[in-house]
Amino acid sequence: MQIQLFKTKNIDKKLLEEVASCLHTIFAAEVEITDYYIELPTSIFDSKRMQYLADAVVYHVYRYKNLTSIAVILVEFDAYIKGLNFVFGLAIPHLKSAAVFLPRLVAIQSTLFLERVKKEVIHELGHILGLKHCSKLECVMSFSNSVTEVDRKSMKFCQKCAKILGRQGYRISQEYIIIEI
Ligand SMILES: [Zn+2]
Ligand SMILES: [Zn+2]
Repeated sequence: MQIQLFKTKNIDKKLLEEVASCLHTIFAAEVEITDYYIELPTSIFDSKRMQYLADAVVYHVYRYKNLTSIAVILVEFDAYIKGLNFVFGLAIPHLKSAAVFLPRLVAIQSTLFLERVKKEVIHELGHILGLKHCSKLECVMSFSNSVTEVDRKSMKFCQKCAKILGRQGYRISQEYIIIEI
């Protein structure tokens, strides 16, 4: 699996490196951090809401990725989709592309912020690899509508989600699978 990490202008390179190393561990993926930043077109910014249209952002980053790789962009701006006030992230599986929007994940503690970002990136990757939302609250694939819910879930996949991925040939590192008794 090849993953390309993209960013908008003011995303810290260190953050990308932390996310990259985490993804490498979980999926044994080759992760490439692109050295340029992506400028989002103003045409996909809703100036009344002061938010980007999340699906349009994902379509935009799709154009930068290599044919065979998965693209994930970390975005310093807030975004929404039709029917929701905001989203933490969005994946469009058939484009093999996803975006994670950082403003609402910010925490005073930088370790907490990093943890939240990783969770959301792993979650969106799970969607790209074919997973739906999971009813297990601690599973990284559970749906989060607030940071409290992001903080409640773990960075790991439950056994069921890990099995679905395994059947498709994606092996998850043991340390990222929840131990169930
Ligand atoms: Zn989701
Ligand atoms: Zn699960």
